[in-house]
Amino acid sequence: MGEVVKIELPDHVTYIIRELSERGYEAYAVGGCIRDTLLGRKPGDWDITTSASPTKVKQIFPRTIDTGIAHGTVTVMLEKCGYEVTTYRVDGIYEDGRHPKTVEFTASLEEDLKRRDFTINAMAYNEKSGLVDIFHGIDDLGKKVICCVGSAKDRFTEDALRMLRAVRFAAQLGFTLEESTINGICLLAPRLAMVSKERIQAELTKILLSLYPQRIEDIFLYGLAGQIFPGLVEYYKQADKKKMQRLLMQAEQDIILRYTAFFTIIQETPAERYRKVYNILKELRFDNHTIDFVSRLSEYYNMELSKEKATLRKQIVEVGEDIFPYLLKFQQEKEIERLYQEIIEAGDCLSIGKLAINGKDLMEAGVAAGKGMGELLNQLLYQVLEKPEWNTKEKLLGLVKENRK
Ligand code: ATP
Ligand code: MG
Repeated sequence: MGEVVKIELPDHVTYIIRELSERGYEAYAVGGCIRDTLLGRKPGDWDITTSASPTKVKQIFPRTIDTGIAHGTVTVMLEKCGYEVTTYRVDGIYEDGRHPKTVEFTASLEEDLKRRDFTINAMAYNEKSGLVDIFHGIDDLGKKVICCVGSAKDRFTEDALRMLRAVRFAAQLGFTLEESTINGICLLAPRLAMVSKERIQAELTKILLSLYPQRIEDIFLYGLAGQIFPGLVEYYKQADKKKMQRLLMQAEQDIILRYTAFFTIIQETPAERYRKVYNILKELRFDNHTIDFVSRLSEYYNMELSKEKATLRKQIVEVGEDIFPYLLKFQQEKEIERLYQEIIEAGDCLSIGKLAINGKDLMEAGVAAGKGMGELLNQLLYQVLEKPEWNTKEKLLGLVKENRK
């Protein structure tokens, strides 16, 4: 039944398949690992599909974890590696467009492959049967298209996230979307509203971190953006798209840089862009660090940095020492990068904490604690940013005394 394709399975996978086969069960490596191997890419993980029930899988392998036992998934641990072994299943209706309400186990590999999203993700392989490719995934790999298994409308109605996954795989692999798949997305895009923010966030991040991050545009072209960030649709229409593409492609594969490049479509004042980005990322349930860095970098991404060290030091303080290296990576200005390196290597003081005097020293010099002291420290920092060599206790106390005359 299988086509003549030879795949080198990792030893652990061969072992798991053999253990199951010897007890009379079918077992195959399936999904993304087969797709990636056929493309000459290294799979992130190897998933196995089997006719054995989760209970049986747990009896056969000494070390297992109940990863998603209700959905038939058991993780088999071999040495330090985990392999998800999932019982052949047919998904029930996705009433909420999120989770199948019920899953039913089946004895048929074909039934299991039918429930998968795209033809290129619906291939299975083992040594005995070779490649099982009922939906012509290998042809679609050759044609470089993302195409639903069966009816696109049915697949997207069952699970709306698949629409975003289609764009994600296209972006990762440099594929196009097959026509009925596109039509299905355009028709059913509003159903993305039913999908959890966390699942959406994960796919968006994969799109932006992919080899072709500019494919994020697909979400605007096919109407998905309106469900994810309604506030951006108008900006996108007005945006300089070539500029966004360029910024996305030249940004490193880094979550902070890629999201910032994307949000440059927000044509607003820096402060307003900060606010918009902050709210969008919060809404998408990002972690605080990502929200903080991306929104601040979005505020400053196009700040014109000075080639004069004293001014540059002040800009570092204004932007924030923590995100400044990201700003440099974003702007890719060699000369400024060099100046920044010199500032860092010289150990120039860039914060109140690094001043050669502190509040205690000032009190000993007769300055009263309180708001005035904070202001004084800020003034001293400002002077040290201009003249780093002034950062000695003696000099700073001298300045304080002069000041009070
Ligand atoms: P990657 O791991 O690189 O993100 P993958 O294809 O392995 O890609 P997973 O999310 O790990 O994707 O899922 C493994 C397999 O399970 C897929 O290849 C696909 O066959 C199936 N699958 C996963 N999510 C869905 C879904 N939402 N609808 C239908 N099938 C899915
Ligand atoms: Mg996977």
